Amino acid sequence: MDIDNKDQEEVKEEQTTEDSGYEDICFVCHRPASKAGKMIHLMKDISICSECMQRTMDMMGSGSVDYSKMDFSKMPNISMINLSDLQNMIPKRQKVKRKEPKKQEEAAKVFDIRSVPAPHKIKESLDEYVIGQEKAKKVISVAVYNHYKRVAAGTDADDIEIEKSNMLMIGPTGSGKTYLVKTLARLLDVPLAIADATSLTEAGYIGDDIESVLSKLLAAADNDVEKAERGIVFIDEIDKIAKKKNTNQRDVSGESVQQGMLKLLEGAEVEVPVGANSKNAMVPLETINTKNILFICGGAFPDLENIIKERLNKQSSIGFRADLKDKYDKEKNLLRKVTVEDIRTFGMIPEFVGRLPVIFTLDALTEDMMVSILKEPKNAILKQYQKLLALDEVKLDFTEGALRAIVKKAMEKDTGARALRAIIEDFMLDIMYEIPKDDNIGQVLITEEYIEQRGGPVITMRGVPAIEMQGQG
Ligand code: ADP
Repeated sequence: MDIDNKDQEEVKEEQTTEDSGYEDICFVCHRPASKAGKMIHLMKDISICSECMQRTMDMMGSGSVDYSKMDFSKMPNISMINLSDLQNMIPKRQKVKRKEPKKQEEAAKVFDIRSVPAPHKIKESLDEYVIGQEKAKKVISVAVYNHYKRVAAGTDADDIEIEKSNMLMIGPTGSGKTYLVKTLARLLDVPLAIADATSLTEAGYIGDDIESVLSKLLAAADNDVEKAERGIVFIDEIDKIAKKKNTNQRDVSGESVQQGMLKLLEGAEVEVPVGANSKNAMVPLETINTKNILFICGGAFPDLENIIKERLNKQSSIGFRADLKDKYDKEKNLLRKVTVEDIRTFGMIPEFVGRLPVIFTLDALTEDMMVSILKEPKNAILKQYQKLLALDEVKLDFTEGALRAIVKKAMEKDTGARALRAIIEDFMLDIMYEIPKDDNIGQVLITEEYIEQRGGPVITMRGVPAIEMQGQG
């Protein structure tokens, strides 16, 4: 009965320690429970891991030590230990704070891959982060939904094998291609590897082997092969491996790399070096099946618009529409009219395009979209700065004019939304440096004049009865 009570007490204690995030450490080897495994509680605050306990028992049992023949009283510095004295000798807390590295990732996890969210749910989540690009978000949501349905269903049920929905994403630099894929992978909580097609070479040439993208994926999946086999691989700058026109030289970086990628895209068992970019005798290999890996290829495809225009003009020059020859010259988002034929003309080989059945385009960002990108996404850059200054109890605001001025500067660089952060960081540096100097500053308003370097930001001091400042302390 007594023992029962004691046991219960121990269990209770164990539970409370688990709840508090602390874990026991072994009295002998000093390893925490997360490393040494289950702990045996000897008495209050003293635990020993099973391994050390076993070792102690073995030592006693094997006869290597015969305690009965030992005379402890004759040994210098050793006297018989009274366990209750021991209690006072040991430091009070034999526990360490358990590390919780997964917490943040769990928070970001929105969907469970086993119960694939419906396309509209995926798109809704994408909407919180990605501005505009409605069509692309819709296409990608449906394709991802189908892909993971296919993975979940497996192929054993019947003979109908659902085709893999690898994608080809075409859009100007900085229009959000990488961002879209990154957001998607984070929402789905699947590992993601991003590779640059220009760094890939056919095996045997200097550069990364094509399999190296799978090594990256494996690393992103913490070397968990099963997890990696459900991941997403994004290959950027895919247009750079187009077949070169009118060239007599051996084409190392283009067509042969496309050829090399065919088996990956389709689904194959591939031997992948673990923790390295190329195979050699020193690197361990893992076999990865790419059947369920979703491949998304992206590129800006410069000049593709001209190919589309040429095709459309050719069509319209036949017959009565001949007079509309320059009809498409001013058309915006001409890319949306892309066909498989155009992509082939660009220099992608038919087998390659054939393995990317989902083709969609991203629009070039407009001024309005860029302004929205600054302030609307869940992790918008303005919100980040506002939060930083709010920690100093300073309210940060931007006038509409200031936002437009920032966007105009970014558009001059012609790198899409990518330039926004650099520009804003430049202006915010002084603010972030100066504001904490003076505790009395309550509000900072960034104006168009400040961005255009015609004036400074408007600073309001605390205690001044400005309406915007109410509730700011
Ligand atoms: P690329 O199309 O060249 O791959 P990125 O995806 O790298 O462009 O975009 C650069 C950055 O611009 C992203 O990290 C993101 O912060 C921002 N961005 C681009 N497009 C959008 C968008 N449509 N919505 C929100 N942010 C965007």
